[in-house]
Amino acid sequence: MNNRLFYNCNLRKAYNDWEEDAAFLVKNGRVVATGNKSSLLGEWGDLPKVDLKGKTVTAGFNDSHLHLYQLGKDIQALDLSDVNSLSELKTKIVKWLENKDSDKLLRAVRLHDQNLPGGRLPDRKVLDNLVDDRPLIITRACYHAAALNSKALELANINKNTEAPESGRIGRYKDGRPDGRLYDSAIDLLEDNLPKPEPESVVKTLVSASKKLLAQGITSVGTDDLNAINRPDLMLSAYNKLIENRDSFPRLWLQQRVNSLKEIEWLNKNNCQTGQGDYWKLHGPLKIMLDGSLGARTAALSKPYSSSNSNYGDLLLTENKLINLLNTAAEYGFTAAIHVIGDKALDTALNAMEKAGENGFEINESLLIHCQISRKEQLSRLGDLNMNLAIQPAFVATDWKFVEKYVGKDLARDSYAWKSLIDKGACLAGSSDAPIEPINPLWGIQTAITRQDKDNKPAAGWRPDEKLELDMAWDLFTSAGAMISGENNYKGDLKPGQLADFVVLSDNPNKVPAENISDIKVTATYQHGEKVYSDSESI
Ligand SMILES: [Zn+2]
Repeated sequence: MNNRLFYNCNLRKAYNDWEEDAAFLVKNGRVVATGNKSSLLGEWGDLPKVDLKGKTVTAGFNDSHLHLYQLGKDIQALDLSDVNSLSELKTKIVKWLENKDSDKLLRAVRLHDQNLPGGRLPDRKVLDNLVDDRPLIITRACYHAAALNSKALELANINKNTEAPESGRIGRYKDGRPDGRLYDSAIDLLEDNLPKPEPESVVKTLVSASKKLLAQGITSVGTDDLNAINRPDLMLSAYNKLIENRDSFPRLWLQQRVNSLKEIEWLNKNNCQTGQGDYWKLHGPLKIMLDGSLGARTAALSKPYSSSNSNYGDLLLTENKLINLLNTAAEYGFTAAIHVIGDKALDTALNAMEKAGENGFEINESLLIHCQISRKEQLSRLGDLNMNLAIQPAFVATDWKFVEKYVGKDLARDSYAWKSLIDKGACLAGSSDAPIEPINPLWGIQTAITRQDKDNKPAAGWRPDEKLELDMAWDLFTSAGAMISGENNYKGDLKPGQLADFVVLSDNPNKVPAENISDIKVTATYQHGEKVYSDSESI
């Protein structure tokens, strides 16, 4: 069914452009006309029609940075995000073990360690007391740190003599033995020693994550998982299988993780340059990790963390190494997406990008991911460069309680400064970084507006001057995502000529209090003019 008239809706066509009693015409997967219900019914009333029953319709959501494969895998892991103490952790794991009788690796995820003894992940001794007969890995909520029991350390081949990889760290006891805590790419030491999944199981995992996303109205994602199993060839063929099988999945903008020149060369040989592909699977920038996370206190800061005189976090690459990577990227036709969380990492990224810019590296087509801790003068620098940023408004809801405690008042003051950044000229797109934060884009929109957590705290919002108004927040999760992937000429809004990717909502967000926006339900999701999710048969 290619041509259809969708009518009787409250339509958000673009930024600050809403129309009540609206209709729109879809032909061959694209919007070809929008306007008043009666005039479109008059003109096109003979075509097949869908009555949207007065509901609100907006462009499908675009999550600019998440990890599709990890999201799918986490569906099978134990979720520890609600654990608040060591005893709760123990109870939860013991209960979970009752139903697990294989000797396979046990995976638990999304642990917040702030409430555990010492505000740290448990060490191997604690974990061995829980499970000593099979490997267990617990990943911190940010995925930048993990705790392993002795069996898992064995499986990862990590012992007293193991050196940490360049962009990672192995936690150790005073005598040098590993304590079970791994940071950043040291976590890959375990993954490297696991049998690689069968191609069909990779596809299955991607499909299960895709279903979840489409059910939340997400029709496009920027995804960083090409290297999730250290087999980009396998991952690429899994993406291609999705397309071949005609599975439903969000349009993919691949953020292609690399740590070395060799990996860039591999991508180059395999025709993965930025811009290759089409609107179902588009090869995007090289994804480069420059520091860790705030929660794990590995984000690289210009001042030491408040709890220590010597911990400045981990800068994973020197400025010169980064310049080298960016120069090579430019040479082969790649842009870059650099992970920066701390202000020191931000300095390094901006310096390197500007220097590589002199050799042809495209700053304006590249982006920074996260950009949380910043100093005032950095905000202006980002604005002057019209920098593209993939930010996570939901991080404010999670982090506000410990930002000042970790980085001090000075550095906290101009951090997570979304409104200032937009005002100064940066281009911000919204994302969840799922599975780190929940995928619901309406939660992302809500937190960008309220800057509060689930308990509506703090009362006025954290740094209320940085709150966004509704339409701006909506743009973060629709058109801005298309803007930073360079696809705004065919998606992001619902204007004639654009792809008919849209979402039907239970309520009009303009009439719902800001703190209830995330309660709005997605009634149906359409992609390319076809229904890919519905909570009922009616729409
Ligand atoms: Zn991420």
